[in-house]
Amino acid sequence: MLPVAEAQRLVFERVKPLAARPMPLSDAALGLVLGEDIASDIDAPPFDKSMMDGYAIRSDDLAEGKATLAVIEEVSAGRTATRAVSQGQAIRIMTGAPIPAGADAVVPVERTKELPGNVVLLESKVTPGQHILPRGQEMTQGQAVLSRGCRLRPQELGLLAAVGRTAALVHPAPMVTVLPTGDEIVEPPQAPGPAQIRNSNGPMLAAQVRRAGGVPKPLGIARDQVEHLRTLIGEGLRGDVLILSGGVSAGKLDLVPGVLAELGVEPVFHKIEMKPGKPLFFGTRGPTLVFGLPGNPVSSLVCFELFVRPAIERLLALPQPGPHWLQASLQADFPYRTDRPTYHPACLWSEGPVWQVRIVPWGGSPDLRGLTVANAFALLPAGDHVHKADATLAVLKVE
Ligand code: AMP
Ligand code: MG
Repeated sequence: MLPVAEAQRLVFERVKPLAARPMPLSDAALGLVLGEDIASDIDAPPFDKSMMDGYAIRSDDLAEGKATLAVIEEVSAGRTATRAVSQGQAIRIMTGAPIPAGADAVVPVERTKELPGNVVLLESKVTPGQHILPRGQEMTQGQAVLSRGCRLRPQELGLLAAVGRTAALVHPAPMVTVLPTGDEIVEPPQAPGPAQIRNSNGPMLAAQVRRAGGVPKPLGIARDQVEHLRTLIGEGLRGDVLILSGGVSAGKLDLVPGVLAELGVEPVFHKIEMKPGKPLFFGTRGPTLVFGLPGNPVSSLVCFELFVRPAIERLLALPQPGPHWLQASLQADFPYRTDRPTYHPACLWSEGPVWQVRIVPWGGSPDLRGLTVANAFALLPAGDHVHKADATLAVLKVE
């Protein structure tokens, strides 16, 4: 059977980042990746700027560390002084205001005392340039400030606004169609009949897509019927990624692989060496990636995190796509026997610089409830082992 690492390689080598295209820059671009280099259209700051509330003065006037100067004007942020500072003079200045001509330092208001008749006493050692942010210190006009390939976080979006960009080339979020299958599946508002169960995978997978940075498009529920599957899968193949759940195991009504083949999806693998999630199917049609996830909810969730999420991150052109494994120290002895490498629900937390992991009780691949107290999967090797307290386990954080 195909090992997980090999299967991941087969998926990831088939994923190319979606082509960057012009996009308006709003908070909706958060987390996307820039597809062009960005240069500044301005000097920032655009003028020598006061960093303090105080007095703009000539440093020569304070050579003695003390002086009484005539206050000739006041300038606040957003205004420009109309006069220059000459010997014996000062201009009262606010943070963010341009330094008036003639001045070469700012004395903070805390080091001064206003005297009657628009005169100020300053007691301060002064070095030329103090409390002045020189023009262009942060960036100059024409200078490269962001490179293609960087992920747009709040600080990048702020900087793009600072250089006047309202649109840029950005790798778009992939559209991911989600199609649960099964004759027994009913939508959540419905009370399930005697042999029915509610569709938990649909909402769960849509939320996983969103968390991974994709745009989910739910397609309803496909019945275990070739015609119905054909129609809905045909629709789903219009996405960048199609995720199916159920119908990929070995049962008589596991019709998904057959219908996919009929619609021109080339199979890459079917069945891998893992637990839960063995029946996983992966194929492609043109640039569309097709994942047939096993129907049991935990199998679906784990396969998504190991294969689909990292694929979405590659479509997004993220600089460091996952999965990102951590090494964690096991909290207590855990005897465990399994015939395939097993991704077991676990709780991960950090104590200082060290990750700690605790295995949580779990009833197997249908037990979604058990996952609600977990935030990670610990990888437990095949065989009969007693994992000792303080042993190091590979753990995948799933949050
Ligand atoms: P299958 O992979 O179709 O054989 O399904 C395996 C198990 O997962 C069955 O017990 C299904 O009832 C269950 N299952 C399939 N699809 C869903 C779903 N959308 N939500 C919850 N459970 C499901
Ligand atoms: Mg089924």
